[in-house]
Amino acid sequence: MQKYDLICAGCTSIYNDDRLKCASDGGLLRTNYSKKTLTLKDVPGMGKFHDWLPINEVMTTDSGPVTYRSTELAAELGLNNLFISFNGYWPEKGAYVKTCSFKELEAFPTVQKIRGGKSSLVLASAGNTARAFSHVSAMTGVDVYIAVPASGMSRMWLPEEPTDSIHIIQMGKNCDYTDSIHLAERIAALPGMKAEGGARNVARRDGMGTVMLDAAVTMKRMPDHYFQAIGSGTGGIAAWEASLRLRDDGRFGKKLPVLQLSQNLPFAPMFNAWKAGRCDIVKDIDMPDPKKLIHEMYADILSNREPPYSVAGGVYDALCSTNGTMHGITNSDAIKAQQMFERYEGIDIFPPAGVAVASLVEALNEHKVNAEDYIVLNITGGGVKRLEMDYTLSKIEPEFIAENSSIPLEEIMNRKVLDRKVFA
Ligand SMILES: *Cc1c(COP(=O)(O)O)cnc(C)c1O
Repeated sequence: MQKYDLICAGCTSIYNDDRLKCASDGGLLRTNYSKKTLTLKDVPGMGKFHDWLPINEVMTTDSGPVTYRSTELAAELGLNNLFISFNGYWPEKGAYVKTCSFKELEAFPTVQKIRGGKSSLVLASAGNTARAFSHVSAMTGVDVYIAVPASGMSRMWLPEEPTDSIHIIQMGKNCDYTDSIHLAERIAALPGMKAEGGARNVARRDGMGTVMLDAAVTMKRMPDHYFQAIGSGTGGIAAWEASLRLRDDGRFGKKLPVLQLSQNLPFAPMFNAWKAGRCDIVKDIDMPDPKKLIHEMYADILSNREPPYSVAGGVYDALCSTNGTMHGITNSDAIKAQQMFERYEGIDIFPPAGVAVASLVEALNEHKVNAEDYIVLNITGGGVKRLEMDYTLSKIEPEFIAENSSIPLEEIMNRKVLDRKVFA
């Protein structure tokens, strides 16, 4: 029997081959695992959730989410059942995500899935994804081509020496994350290249879904609420899908966790659309002058101009299905919350995680959570300062600078930046 098949979240068509899109309605495809009861594998990291990962070989990486019960921050907020999902480097807690964000949970299963094939992986990233996939590329030797906006280059470091399998294409000064997505799409269409797929990639979503699985296994139940800062919303969709599987399993409760998702103002297209009760994003209303607004964000990696919000099985459906809500968080609230978390929990965290902490504070103030509720707060990235105590970080240099996303690919070719065998 096959480990899983893919079901369209829109029209429920079933597919047995690996693909990114439903042929009839373009809805998100979701993995339907033949095993409905989760049995943990006896390995250190995220590989323990092998039953619900779309790969055949068990991963043995020590990287994976860590869930722990908060005492200090919980006391400060007056919460009795606050659990932190820490996705970063914090060995004292057993957390070994060495690129320090939960993008690594996406990278390991995605790379594992194409390993052994002849393709190179192509993706776009504002920084954390690029680092995660570069790290897994260095560990496995699988070639990755990554388009990175200039603003993300400062995040291009690794806990190891970069390898030749890593190919970074830096975007020009006036490009943002969405421009990198468009260039990556064009490169991926070349022979020998394979699009990583973003939110459509089930290995990515199910990898991120291990946050919810780890939380439920640790708490021996699903949480009442799940808090996360989103840019694309892939992590929110993944948490919802994982909770659907946990509900089917039967041992973790029947009620789906309420998704409490947050964006960083002033660029918050999904927050705006949701607040207006709309199932789609209207450009002029929800994100006027995006470049200017993105420039003003503290957590600028949460800036995706084309998030999977209205697609069947996307963020809007996830919010509706879980009775969820969205928060719009100002820079100053995000910074304050980030500092509060670091003070009480004793570890450094990334700006987006500060946005999530601020959303929990807001939900408390608005009485959207109760003191006794079981809450999972996804700290999507952190521990870089802690990592620097144990590792020497190396900078990854770009192979090419692309002034815009429609640059002729021959230009990149001529400079022999991309793999020669592809263009021979
Ligand atoms: C990508 C990222 C997010 C947003 O995740 P999505 O669910 O994909 O929108 C939040 N925090 C950090 C640190 C990230 O790298």
